[in-house]
Amino acid sequence: MTKPESAGYDYDVVISGAGLAGSAAAILLARRGVRVALLERRSDPEAYKVLCTHSLTANAYPVLDELGLVPALEEAGAVRNEARWYTRWGWIEPRAAPAGPGLPYAYNVRRSTLDPLIRSRAAQTPGVDLLLGHQVTGLVREAGRTSGVRASTAQGEREIRARLVVGADGKDSAVAKFAGVPARLYENARFGYLAHFRNLPLHGGIGQTWFLEPDMAYAFPNDDGVTVIAVLPDKKRLPAFRDDLEGSFLEFVRALPEAPLIDSAERVTKIIGTVDYPLHSRKPTAPGVAFIGDAALTGDPLWGVGCGWALQSAQWLAEAVASAATGRGDLDRSLAVYARGHRRRLRGHQYLAADFARARPFNPGERLMFSAAARDESMARHMHLFASRLIGPLHFLNPVALAKAAAVNIKHRGAAAPPAHLSHPGS
Ligand SMILES: Cc1cc2nc3c(=O)[nH]c(=O)nc-3n(C[C@H](O)[C@H](O)[C@H](O)COP(=O)(O)OP(=O)(O)OC[C@H]3O[C@@H](n4cnc5c(N)ncnc54)[C@H](O)[C@@H]3O)c2cc1C
Repeated sequence: MTKPESAGYDYDVVISGAGLAGSAAAILLARRGVRVALLERRSDPEAYKVLCTHSLTANAYPVLDELGLVPALEEAGAVRNEARWYTRWGWIEPRAAPAGPGLPYAYNVRRSTLDPLIRSRAAQTPGVDLLLGHQVTGLVREAGRTSGVRASTAQGEREIRARLVVGADGKDSAVAKFAGVPARLYENARFGYLAHFRNLPLHGGIGQTWFLEPDMAYAFPNDDGVTVIAVLPDKKRLPAFRDDLEGSFLEFVRALPEAPLIDSAERVTKIIGTVDYPLHSRKPTAPGVAFIGDAALTGDPLWGVGCGWALQSAQWLAEAVASAATGRGDLDRSLAVYARGHRRRLRGHQYLAADFARARPFNPGERLMFSAAARDESMARHMHLFASRLIGPLHFLNPVALAKAAAVNIKHRGAAAPPAHLSHPGS
């Protein structure tokens, strides 16, 4: 165990939750000289998040690279995530420009592979004490600020004091509850179920997403030859769907355009899912506290962005607070920098996602951009950058992109219109 040094504190930072966000933050903080206690309520070092389709968007790549995880992921068979998207205008198939750089990517990799890998890297990092079987059950508070946690362990209760407490404990964050930081909820009008299959070839060997307005589905190839299939229908369909869950799931997949041939594949997991998964946003900090990953912002699973943001928010926090967390700076000012950056980068994405989560058909702006992306390769690349969360909503919907999309669609209409002498009056 790392030897406690500072008077009054056992560690510089205590993190609640050794999932993606917590483990990444522990590594990145400790590399900057911060002494970290990484607490995880589960005792099994191989534990992982089951309810996830684990496609990591390309914004995750630089963090995976900084963490040094890319070679291990490639070795574990993680699949570089190319994808095509079905829309009513046809398939959007982002490809690299002929003379341009390759498309940015990250990985499809099962959480049973990813979570133990990143947690073990955290445990091996000098300066990190991974404390398994430690469930945060309360906070230590002094003069209006948080200065540690109380944790329940197999040996009984213990108190761990630190300058900063990080809530990396998921959407129902215990740290947020005890610190009195509420979440703003946005209704999600879709439900979702998923299952894993083997021997399930996909068109082009790449991921597929179906925008069925309002229903959604996707299929992603993963490590070890496993393909995950998820369906996210409108909640109006839930009662009938639940009457025969297995039959409904399989029927939904069979009816997809260019459907994967699930009947000749082997299903290797149960069909699991969630019928109520609102989006959450929290203020990312409180006195002596910071939130990262789902504890700060839980997006709509249908966009597959939570893992990338869990890793990125860990990186943003480490960059903002490392120095102050060791007592060499103003912690409150550093927390304010983190909170501002978090809001600036993610608020717009969450706003659009919350609107789309109402399970409505595409609005005029979406119709414009999706139809153009189905018809034009550069628009498809632009869409890929947005879906990969490498550009924000303002960049995605900038006036030049909107004008280009309009031009693509006008040209398409012109090309599709029959010559005047063949058209019938009133057609
Ligand atoms: C159906 C579904 C599909 C999804 N698909 C994708 C996808 O394809 N791509 C994507 O990027 N994202 C996806 N997500 C989102 C993704 O799963 C989350 O955004 C991501 O796991 C967040 O990581 P995290 O580290 O913040 O939280 P978590 O992974 O939830 O980790 C939290 C950790 O904290 C621990 N913990 C909790 N309470 C305590 C406590 N009191 N004390 C100590 N430890 C505690 C937990 O045991 C856990 O280890 C999906 C989500 C759902 C529901």
